[in-house]
This record gives sequence, structure tokens and C-alpha cells, in this order.
Amino acid sequence: MKILMAASEAVPFAKTGGLADAVSALSLALAKQGHEIKIILPRYYSINRDMLCQLEGELGVRTGGGEEWCAVYAADLPGSSKKNPVMVYFIDHEVFFGRDGIYGIPSEPDFLDNPRRFTFFCRAVFQFCRKISWYPDVLHAHDWPAALAPVFLKYGERVSGFEKTVSILTIHNLGYQGIYSKDNFYYTNLGWDVFYAAGFDDWNMMNLLKAGLNTADKLNTVSPHYAWETQTPLHGFRLDGVLRYRSADYAGILNGIDTGIWNPKTDPYIPQNYSIKDMTGKIKAKEALQREFNLPSDPDVPVIGMVTRLTEQKGVGEVFGPAYGSAWSICREMNLQLVILGSGEPWCEHEIENLASRLSNFKAHIGYSERESHLIEAGSDFFLMPSRYEPCGLNQMYSLAYGTLPIVRNTGGLADTVQNFDQDTGAGTGFVFDDLTPAAIYNTVGWAVWAYYNRRTQIEAMRITGMKQNFSWEKSAKKYIEMYETSLAVM
Ligand code: ADP
Repeated sequence: MKILMAASEAVPFAKTGGLADAVSALSLALAKQGHEIKIILPRYYSINRDMLCQLEGELGVRTGGGEEWCAVYAADLPGSSKKNPVMVYFIDHEVFFGRDGIYGIPSEPDFLDNPRRFTFFCRAVFQFCRKISWYPDVLHAHDWPAALAPVFLKYGERVSGFEKTVSILTIHNLGYQGIYSKDNFYYTNLGWDVFYAAGFDDWNMMNLLKAGLNTADKLNTVSPHYAWETQTPLHGFRLDGVLRYRSADYAGILNGIDTGIWNPKTDPYIPQNYSIKDMTGKIKAKEALQREFNLPSDPDVPVIGMVTRLTEQKGVGEVFGPAYGSAWSICREMNLQLVILGSGEPWCEHEIENLASRLSNFKAHIGYSERESHLIEAGSDFFLMPSRYEPCGLNQMYSLAYGTLPIVRNTGGLADTVQNFDQDTGAGTGFVFDDLTPAAIYNTVGWAVWAYYNRRTQIEAMRITGMKQNFSWEKSAKKYIEMYETSLAVM
């Protein structure tokens, strides 16, 4: 199959979140299974042109503002094979993308002209294919920035080469939809009949993701449980009705993890590698973690780790909220050590530093560190993720791979990947709770700590069960292929 990924991010070129990892990893996994994959991205200012190779000639893209011109650059996706490389193409438009930031900068978090920037990008996708005379069987768009691509395909572009192309739209986080003033609609070059037919309308605004969800041939999100949750008012971000309406074409496919990077057998960031056969390296990692965070070196005390963006989505209010968060009583009343690495909302960073100054068994590093995130995954006994919602979540899968037991809320991808501890049989891979309340977090951490001291054999067995789970992209890629094939079959 020929598959074109249209996205605003892909590692290592541009990344603000998990979307970037997923686009590249999925592309590599699909190419490994013999498919022809191309990725198309905007050429942001931060992507050095010297590393890319320019395609001959320019690309004329028709928009509501007239015809605009751009250049196209190309590069191989690192990690792809010589035999079947994944090619990445970059749409280079100085006015739209020649600036700092992907979606915005700190003083302007959402660029005012984002609807025009990404409208242009989605139109350019079609002109690009025509330029290189390469027509995909599957046009796979990711999140709101690429959501117009399926809309354009359905309304006008399914001609001259694209007659047999199907479109897929993947939701990586329904919380971001691309909602803008409909004054920007003229730029799409679509008629107002399409504005209503495609369902752009959102309380007199223009909702790009909503139009994409209404028009793409198939939809999916990044875990089965999140696919179900997004069809309910609680997690649907006002689009639950659209998703229920499209439920026959809507699936959940779990993301994989990059086992080349997140693997205790080969991880260069930990003092000694380890595996199911010999877990000595995990003990060494715990020692190193305690040293790194200035905690007393004690192999017998349970260490709970957290690595997270400090935002409401991650449930940090219920852990660190001033006067009501559970962290204070957890650290005061339980014999454990709690370690956190994260950055984000200023109130939360401040509160964490405040707690760390008053609690001897609570240590925090505010900031971003790849190395420390690996050390925390390897050196902790438990990993806490009390997310409000979690489309897939990567950290709980990393934890399982490292023999660290996740303590998670029963939501999204966390619900799909962590099985609750069964005290009678010893089955399970972690500790799961339903309510997002400080009391539920306190009680579940308490239960895990109790099990650590009183059910040690079961805890050690759970670690091994976790390490045996298969979260490879290969498995996910097969499910994507099935979705592409069913979509093509009805074309
Ligand atoms: P999300 O994409 O919603 O932030 P995920 O669990 O899907 O959540 O992925 C988060 C990724 O970002 C993980 O790889 C995690 O280790 C990493 N991460 C988050 N915060 C930090 C940090 N402060 N330092 C290092 N890595 C971090």
C-alpha cells in the first residue's frame, strides 16, 4: 500500500508531544511490513534546510487568498531501512512557517494565523502528490492541524490521481480541535454549503477537527478505552455526538513504544542493564536514583516515581493541590520515598518545591531531562499516573517494560494497559483506581505500599508479568493495516 502521513509533527524534526513519536514510529513499523510510506510536514524554521534536499521547482497552491507558492524539501526518516526508506517531505513557506514555534510561542501560544497556516499545508498535500506523480492509497491525517486534508479530499480533490484514495483521521488528543473564527473559512477555498455539509460549524465558529471527523472515511484514536470514552459527554470535549454518529467507522488502536529507546536490556541511561533473567540492574538503578535525588540509600523502602507535564490533564491538582492534594499525607503517613520530574503550570511547580522543602522523603526536579526520566522508570518500584484523561499514555508502558508497577487511574490507555492487582491470585500488572480524588490516590498508593511490605512475592511476580507485555509498534501497525484495508475495500 502507498500511505501518506499528513501531520504537523514527527520526530526528530518537530515535536511538542506524543503525536510526533507516534507518526514516525508508526511510519517505520508500516515500512518494515513492506508498505510505501511518505510523511509530509511543514518546514518550520527550527528544521535546518541544510540537512534537507530541495526538490526541483516550486509548488503552486490554490487557496482562498489566491495562488501561493512554496518550496518542497525532502529527507529520509532516521531509522528507516535503505531498501524501503520512509521519505519525509517538508512544505516550505516563509510567511507561514519561517518563524519560531510550531503552533505558537510563549507570548502568542496559538498563532493568530494558525487556521491559514494549516489550511495552506493541507491544500499543499494534494499539489505535492501531483508534483511528484505519486498518489497514495491512504491519506492518513493526524489531529486538527491535518484535519482539513480529508475534507479537501472529499470536497473537490478526489480527482486527477486521487480517485481511489481513502482518508483516515487519527485523534491523538481530543482536547485540541483547532477552533477559530469563521472569518478564516474563505481561505479554504470551499463554498459555504461545504461549511455546513462538512460540519465546520461550531457555535458560529469554525472547528477544523470536527469537519475532519465528519468527512474522513475512517477515524481512530490511540487506545480502545479512549475511543469509548470520547463517545461520552464526560470525555467527548463536545464532539461525543459526532463520534457516536461515526461509531461504525471509529476504532481505538493502542500506540506502541519505541523499544529501541525504552528497553532495560540496552538503556544507556541506567547504571546496569537488566532483564527478567537477572534483575540486579534494577536494584542498582534504585540505588542510583536515591543518590541522584538525595534520598537515603535504602533498598527496602518503596520508591514511587512520577514523570509528567504538570497540567490539569495529568491529575496533578489531586496530588499537589495546596491544602487538599494527597502528596502531603502520603509522604507523612507512609514509609516510602516519592520522586517527581516535571514541568508545567507555575502554581504546581511552586507547590512541589514547597512540599519538597518540608518533606524529607519527597524530592523533585522541576525541568525536563531525558536521562532522569529513564532513571526514574528503572529505579522506582511504583510509577504514579493519576490522569484525568489519557488518550494512550506512554509512561505506564515504559514502567511495565522496566518492571515498575504503575499506579493509574482507570481511564483511556491506562485502563487498556494496566491490569489491577488481585490480592487473592496475585494476578495483575499494577494498581488501578476509578475516582480522581485525593482520597482515592491516597488509598491506592497506600494499598500498593502495603502490598510491597506484605505481599512481596506477588509484587515481584507482577513485575515479571509487566516486563513480558508486548507493546511493540509492529502489533499496532498490523491493526492500522487492517483499518486501511477495510476502508479500501468499500472504496
Ligand atoms: P503526554 O504526551 O500527554 O505528555 P505521555 O505519557 O503520552 O503523555 O508521554 C509523555 C512523554 O514525555 C513521556 O515519554 C515522558 O517520559 C516524557 N516527559 C514528560 N515530562 C518530562 C520531563 N519533565 N522530563 C523528561 N521527560 C518527560
